Amino acid sequence: PSPDDPAYLQGLNEPQREAVLTTEGPVLVLAGAGTGKTAALTARLAHLIATRRAYPSEILAVTFTNKAAREMRERVGRMIGPAVEGMPWLGTFHAIAAKMLRRHAELVGLQSNFTILDTDDQLRLLKQLIQAEGIDEKRWPARQLAGLIDQWKNRGWTPEEIGAGESEGYANGRGQKLYAAYQARLRDVNACDFGDLLLHILTILKRHRDVLESYQQRFRYIMVDEYQDTNSSQYLWLRLLAQQRKNICCVGDDDQSIYSWRGAEVANILRFEKDFPGAKIVRLEQNYRSNPHILGAASGVIAENGNRLGKTLWTEIDVGEKVRIIGVWDGPEEARRVGDEIESIERSGQSLDEVAILVRAQHQTREFEDRFIQIGLPYRIVGGFRFYERAEIRDALAYLRLVNQPADDLAFERIVNVPKRGLGDKAVEKLHRLARAEAIPLALAAARILDTDEMTPQARRSLGAFIGDLARWRDRAAQLPHAELARQILDESGYTAMLQAERTTESAGRLENLNELTRAMEEYETLGAFLEHVSLVMDNEAQADERKITIMTIHAAKGLEFDTVFLAGWEEGIFPSQRALDEGGLNSLEEERRLAYVALTRARKRCIILHAANRRIYGQWTSSIPSRFVGELPPEHVEEENSMSGGASLWRANWSERADPFANVQRGSGRGPGWQRAQQSGQFVKEPVRIVEARASAVSLGNKGRDDMSIGLRVFHQKFGYGTIAEIEGNKLEIDFETAGRKRVMDSFVQPA
Ligand code: ATP
Ligand code: MG
Repeated sequence: PSPDDPAYLQGLNEPQREAVLTTEGPVLVLAGAGTGKTAALTARLAHLIATRRAYPSEILAVTFTNKAAREMRERVGRMIGPAVEGMPWLGTFHAIAAKMLRRHAELVGLQSNFTILDTDDQLRLLKQLIQAEGIDEKRWPARQLAGLIDQWKNRGWTPEEIGAGESEGYANGRGQKLYAAYQARLRDVNACDFGDLLLHILTILKRHRDVLESYQQRFRYIMVDEYQDTNSSQYLWLRLLAQQRKNICCVGDDDQSIYSWRGAEVANILRFEKDFPGAKIVRLEQNYRSNPHILGAASGVIAENGNRLGKTLWTEIDVGEKVRIIGVWDGPEEARRVGDEIESIERSGQSLDEVAILVRAQHQTREFEDRFIQIGLPYRIVGGFRFYERAEIRDALAYLRLVNQPADDLAFERIVNVPKRGLGDKAVEKLHRLARAEAIPLALAAARILDTDEMTPQARRSLGAFIGDLARWRDRAAQLPHAELARQILDESGYTAMLQAERTTESAGRLENLNELTRAMEEYETLGAFLEHVSLVMDNEAQADERKITIMTIHAAKGLEFDTVFLAGWEEGIFPSQRALDEGGLNSLEEERRLAYVALTRARKRCIILHAANRRIYGQWTSSIPSRFVGELPPEHVEEENSMSGGASLWRANWSERADPFANVQRGSGRGPGWQRAQQSGQFVKEPVRIVEARASAVSLGNKGRDDMSIGLRVFHQKFGYGTIAEIEGNKLEIDFETAGRKRVMDSFVQPA
């Protein structure tokens, strides 16, 4: 470094400078969280423009979110002043692909003013096609098909490129045909969906040499942030564009790959060196973000993952608070504790902008929102709606409002045809006319219209059933606890079934939100009191410029940083999620652990982890167990408080000893039956354990036991996943499962390979 260096270089360390100054040839920056990858990429963009190596319009820079793109643009502006010669192509994959596609739309049969469909439009279109094929949409929901098509597009597959067997999963193999029909239909209406943006561009680049060459010429420099989360079609696109000049710089961290469920492939990092031989690999090891305890805690957790490229992280910061682990009694107490902590942070003069609460699942935000509203702390929800503004919550509330208050016309309109009852716009229009003419509420108009012949017999039947339902629920309201009533309404109205039929990650999330809603209701004396609370919450839109706490999912927090970070709900079944546990595979668990790493490394000065000993699930209190990730935090970096359930120490004791980790904890519900059986049957696993392969170090025990078994053999169990035989004693074995810890098995349950 020299004092003559331009400002944008001065703050950078040696390897960062290398990443910035190595402008020619492929560069891969592979480094842990908070090491200044994004900072280096931003400086690199400034450097390229300032030294006139390229016009801004000859640079392609890809970020993971639109917000990150805005920030990078602002920072570069501050570093070198506004560029005069146009703008770089700076944005997300989608944004850049859309811009390119508008220029060449005709090459894939679209006009340049094509519409980009949102999910609702997409589903409507798919439904029509499914019906036209004579497929039962209830059995094979449009959402499932949409998910499948999305997957194919992420892999860069057009309908013609779907391999045999790939389409089996939907409607007995008719997925491919529907995909083709869908693409044709989109073309007819001059539209495309999100996945098409890249897919179409890929098609164009592959088929039209002249177009490809013009872009290869144009983009002198290509840069990509959060490279570990690119999917196949994005990778193919980058490779095509960079093939000629090879000036591509990707920055990423394999430990932060958290979107494999959306098709991201960490393997792209490994492919980079193959596709761009001679690539310069830059490693950044100094972390500038987190205090040493936070860094130590994060490194300790991620070290439990296999399959890592592995890297060193250190920091010059030598003081700081340890990561605090707070065990609380239940969810409401968790929210109270966080609220108290934040109030004291605020009193000490720190800004609420520097405080974040990160959750694993959207539905976890509710308890915090309610508490913050109660005590007047301003907050914002990032990357999602505030709890009570979500569509499914509003639908459910509309049902409840209508039961509580029959004259609530807005509520009536919202749900009269949700789920579908064949009461479309025309039917509602008739109700409106009658209601206006007689100056009565819609619900009453509905009851009266039944006696006329205004409607088709079918519409009359379903309207009658709906009115009947409402009356029945109103009767029950007097006798039932209102949360129970809400559950019954959601079931009997068909609302729950409608979401269940969708069978998507999204609909599962919506169902969880509805459970959370009924849980919230239990905290209020009457239905009326609850509805009043909700209307107050909805009215609590804070001022736009006010300093606010940020509440968001860990996924949405990628790349961001805050002085203080609260990590809520670190319990088995919440984090790691029940879905990851049920899938049982190592991959989903390792992805959860990468999420834990991302979560911890968002914090600069202070990181506070919470876990509750009890959660209310479906109206029942269940005891919960601290997350295994709590147990993986190195003791020297954490400080435990008030641990009701033993917290990390319980975990360390249990997971490292032979004892069944759950022996002294009351079992919660919601786990698979195999899992529960294994727990209830004492210490022995009672399902087959299959020997899968011998380890090189396997030692045969000769005649001591069955001769097909020996220490070191790898085994597989349906629920516990992979493990290794650790001890054999007579007919009893001890097996170390990679994620579930040590279990005992009778040899009669062990099946040969
Ligand atoms: P993540 O993996 O979470 O995306 P990152 O590697 O992109 O992290 P940055 O966000 O670029 O890291 O940087 C983390 C923090 O360190 C930022 O606050 C940034 O301003 C600061 N920083 C980066 N480089 C330096 C440096 N050389 N000197 C001082 N601070 C730095
Ligand atoms: Mg970054």
